[in-house]
Amino acid sequence: MYDIVILGSGPAGCTAALYTARAGFKPLVLEGMQPGGQLTQTTDIENFPGFEQGINGFELVSTMKAQAERFGAVFEMDECMSADFSGPVKKLETMVNGTIEARAVILATGASARWLGLPNEQRLMGHGVSGCATCDGAFFRDKEVAVAGGGDTACEDALFLAKLCSKVTLIHRRDALRASKVMADRVLASPKIEMAWNSTVADVLDTEGSVSGVVLRDTKTGEERTLPVSALFVAIGHTPNTGFLQGAIELDEQGYIRTNGVKTSAEGVFAAGDAQDPAYKQAIIAAGSGAMAALEAERYLLH
Ligand code: NDP
Repeated sequence: MYDIVILGSGPAGCTAALYTARAGFKPLVLEGMQPGGQLTQTTDIENFPGFEQGINGFELVSTMKAQAERFGAVFEMDECMSADFSGPVKKLETMVNGTIEARAVILATGASARWLGLPNEQRLMGHGVSGCATCDGAFFRDKEVAVAGGGDTACEDALFLAKLCSKVTLIHRRDALRASKVMADRVLASPKIEMAWNSTVADVLDTEGSVSGVVLRDTKTGEERTLPVSALFVAIGHTPNTGFLQGAIELDEQGYIRTNGVKTSAEGVFAAGDAQDPAYKQAIIAAGSGAMAALEAERYLLH
């Protein structure tokens, strides 16, 4: 029986592991299918405080993991398939270790960005294709870029990029934005943002391994045209990695874990990071909520 089991090994899981290990609980961390989480998919991270010159995403989470291990956290390559949080002993059915029991659980399984599903999109990830404008926008200062999507995230990304880039084309598959009116109005009023309505991205083009353009397909006529851009920011939504929690805990309509602070609907079960955060999706915020979940879990175990 473990005192604390943490699911997920991104910044939320690693920070929760560091805090609970330093408090003497010897937490077990199940790393999940993507050890390190979404940060391992990015290149340089310039907005995580403490690194004047930025830091590689993989290096950042690897260091977080090593720091937690130094205080006794144990990381295992395993994934939780289902959970039973109904009693004081929490039961986790895992892929490798079978049933694991714990007195407290921290859920930090993150979210997965949705992608367009184009072969070149994956190949050019980190070389002009990005799922995070806040993280990667600054690399394309004074360049022409494109954003795919029509929701609040796409609009927010387009407005953010319009401050840095010379031109932003917002590519949306319909003729009306899904985003809130205030965001949509701001986008439509921006002189730096051009709309590509009724358009999908049919391909991403590159020159020597870096994005040099996208092929746009008109959803009505099927006609294709090339848009020269240095980057494509895909902002078509995220899916929280919470499918295994169905029935075990309260989730919202989109599948995000419902929380009150970091407390979930089950006593002794806490949540941190993107799995419970549809709004911010930032590494520093995930790390902060990981610390909060750890402190609440410690308090729960001690009282
Ligand atoms: P949404 O699900 O709201 O929007 C996704 C957008 O991507 C839609 O416009 C959708 O098109 C489009 N899309 C989905 N799949 C594809 C595809 N395969 N190809 C092309 N386009 C596609 O996700 P968001 O991340 O924008 O927002 C998530 C939640 O977070 C929302 O509730 C939003 O309000 C909130 N949010 C709030 C912010 C704020 O208030 N500042 C900032 C960011 C997010 P279609 O419209 O045709 O379905």
